[in-house]
Amino acid sequence: MSPVGGFVCTIGWTVSNSVEAQHTSVSSPTVSGHDADVRRPIADLVSPGRVDLDRRPILVFWESTRACLLACKHCRAEAQATAVPGELTKEESLRFIDSLAAFERPAPILVITGGDALMRPDLAELVTHARDRGVHVALAPSVTPLITDARLDEFRGLGVKVASLSLDGASAATHEGMRGIEGHFAATLDALRQLRSHGFVVQVNTVVTSDNVEELPTVARIVRDSGASIWEVFFLVNVGRGTSMNELGPDENEDVCQFLYDASRYGFTVRTVEGPMFRRVVRWREEERVGPVGALYERLSKGLLEQLGMPTSASRAQTKGTRDGRGIIFVSATGDVYPAGFLPIVLGNVKDDDIVELYREHPLLQQIRAAAFTGKCGRCEYRELCGGSRSRAFASTGDPLAEDPACAYTVSP
Ligand code: SF4
Repeated sequence: MSPVGGFVCTIGWTVSNSVEAQHTSVSSPTVSGHDADVRRPIADLVSPGRVDLDRRPILVFWESTRACLLACKHCRAEAQATAVPGELTKEESLRFIDSLAAFERPAPILVITGGDALMRPDLAELVTHARDRGVHVALAPSVTPLITDARLDEFRGLGVKVASLSLDGASAATHEGMRGIEGHFAATLDALRQLRSHGFVVQVNTVVTSDNVEELPTVARIVRDSGASIWEVFFLVNVGRGTSMNELGPDENEDVCQFLYDASRYGFTVRTVEGPMFRRVVRWREEERVGPVGALYERLSKGLLEQLGMPTSASRAQTKGTRDGRGIIFVSATGDVYPAGFLPIVLGNVKDDDIVELYREHPLLQQIRAAAFTGKCGRCEYRELCGGSRSRAFASTGDPLAEDPACAYTVSP
């Protein structure tokens, strides 16, 4: 089965572990004019606590095109230089946006990803249409020469408040090793400054693998120093080009989750994508239950203190109970609808199907929302809060309701 289009290179505006998306920053530099507004995390605009997730998603990720000037190793979309045949036309895209407005108010937030959304020539028109329909838009562009001050001004003027960029290491060697473009690390740091200077709420997305895990403390410092409000860490799923990369094992994931809780105490929100066990760890830490930690955590924890000093805020770890298909839905460049960008099970297509009906009534989504899992995720007391990565369960077993093999937690038989 081929993977669904790609948004690892762009975002994970998930509202739970992530989409999971969202946060405020005490360390963000002041942005004149609309500071209070831009610091408000996107999740605050539509809190899961105020939304019936059986009725509508909070975030709709739309892979607006697979065209991208980059060719990142971990790209789920396996993006290419030009659009693929069958991508939604402007008219089809406008109708798709109209269909989002048919969800109950407030409408879901439309996260426009790619490929690279800036490769769509009609992007401004689509954003304008969404704004006019009451659909908030967040952008997840690739760092390329297409990010210009003029375009950022344009999108801020159209009401886009949130933008995300990917940073996959604390050095040019690591980041560019994953991106495949010389100079891309410095360009990404410049782009982060550029987004902040235009008043965007900035999210930094990082894919964690065995190749970059030791750099996470330094990435955390870059996140803080850049004024980003959100750090979203993606736990690799072997989909798309990501199959060539090295996933962490369950014990290492546990250590990274413990570290991320520590990192959430420096003024920016931390959330995870496809790493929902983070919510269990956050729950434990809130209960002052540390849990088992290994040598990796000890190194990361020490590195964090060296990079950032003592914590400066209460934890801003995001623990909203969204998951693939619960609060989140993904639409590919050609209009196929999936529970998430990393779960390649086609539910329908927006060209022919009503996305509201698909979201509310598709049996798989209903099972996911009911936490009707098998294996240890089905027995786990944290299945509502966490539920495991449905994408990883599917990638590992072919069953989207199976247990997540990346979790170290031992559940009684
Ligand atoms: S066993 Fe499954 S539901 Fe429980 S914490 Fe691990 S991943 Fe989450």
